[in-house]
Amino acid sequence: MQAYVDDIRSISGENPFESMMSRFDHAAKLLHLNPDLYKVLRVPNREFTVYIPVFMDDGQIEVFTGYRVQHNFARGPAKGGIRYAPDVTLDELRALAAWMTWKCAVLNIPFGGAKGGIICNPTNMSRSELERLTRRYTAELIDVIGPERDVPAPDLNTDEQTMAWIMDTYSMHARHTVTAIVTGKPVALSGSRGRREATGRGLLFVINEAVEKLGLKISQSRVAIQGSGNVGGNAALLMHEQGYPVVAISDIHGGIHNSRGLNIPDLLAYLAARQTLEGYPGGEAISNHELLELDCEILIPAATENQITSQNAGRVRCRILAEGANGPTTANADAILERNGVFVIPDILANAGGATCSYFEWVQDRMGYFWKEETVNERLKDVLVASFHDVMRYAETHSVNNRIAAYMLAIDRVAYVTQLRGIYA
Ligand code: NAD
Repeated sequence: MQAYVDDIRSISGENPFESMMSRFDHAAKLLHLNPDLYKVLRVPNREFTVYIPVFMDDGQIEVFTGYRVQHNFARGPAKGGIRYAPDVTLDELRALAAWMTWKCAVLNIPFGGAKGGIICNPTNMSRSELERLTRRYTAELIDVIGPERDVPAPDLNTDEQTMAWIMDTYSMHARHTVTAIVTGKPVALSGSRGRREATGRGLLFVINEAVEKLGLKISQSRVAIQGSGNVGGNAALLMHEQGYPVVAISDIHGGIHNSRGLNIPDLLAYLAARQTLEGYPGGEAISNHELLELDCEILIPAATENQITSQNAGRVRCRILAEGANGPTTANADAILERNGVFVIPDILANAGGATCSYFEWVQDRMGYFWKEETVNERLKDVLVASFHDVMRYAETHSVNNRIAAYMLAIDRVAYVTQLRGIYA
């Protein structure tokens, strides 16, 4: 363990893990965190690497590498998504698992943090290969996941179907149906109403609070969104419905811009039909880089990590940066944004609607009683609005930016319960 700690001591702040660690260190220092707690909270609780043999459709066996990082259990079972991608790394999962711990603590929901992933290229795999991969990965982790231990959810390239396979595999081993083992399941399998839109809806709630705090007007607050998937697409639709002019949106190939505002329902129908925004006639084409630097009031990066770095942060012109993605801004970019007066709603608060609704799903599964969508949305609003104001209070009391305030609030909460429980050392 010492070597690991030494390893991460010198950090530059330009990749997700380094960004997370540098903000953690900054916040811990301002909190005067007890040195023993600092040592414990700075590293994940445990990490698993599994090698997953899978019969491919051609009859050959392929062995895939999978991971699950369980960062912290102090406040409850670990919670976090599973991603399938060729470039999954343990380092990235460590950052994402820690962010889940801090996110759940900012929301004050009774979960710790985890994240998992499998190195694979899901676009080249058949549905049955993906099913076998998912089931064997679940079987490998069967002793360390569970409703009281660690509750997975979808992430990049995994979805409701992946969660259904995990739930079924886990249930087969348990010899009874265990719905609370995963969240983000289909509603028919005891998923929660409103889960699909929850991250976009959460963004809308916290942005509304920020707009009011800064004295802006919804009808004059132009919105640019990088990414048009679950988070970006739903945020675009909900913001459009609320009366915000959404002037730009993109996918991985590039974006569409219209300074008078885009017709979002029409654009999303185009995207659903063609799987690309290329050629959409309602605006002019722009690149993803140009989108991040557009003159607008609200910028929502909702695609992937490391989009706003020390290289382009000085050209970001929005008034509010609401981080839909996890880790879209590097630690080195933070200081530049702060100098330029950008009001950052950090990822661990801004995109926390999904985690909150996952908590609601877990609660509903354990009660066996399912709420109406309006109830889910009302409770989602209560949690996010309260968390937004908790972070604002920390920022004001400690004279720090919103991101460091969110980390301080989260670390304070996790440190407090760790101290109450005592360290079993
Ligand atoms: P998604 O796969 O549904 O959509 C991703 C979108 O980003 C797509 O439009 C894709 O074309 C675009 N994209 C991908 N790579 C890109 C790149 N390099 N440059 C520009 N655009 C790119 O994924 P999602 O569920 O919407 O998640 C997006 C981000 O939000 C991720 O960082 C994820 O971890 C985070 N997040 C998701 C949820 C959730 O509930 N889905 C919750 C919290 C955070």
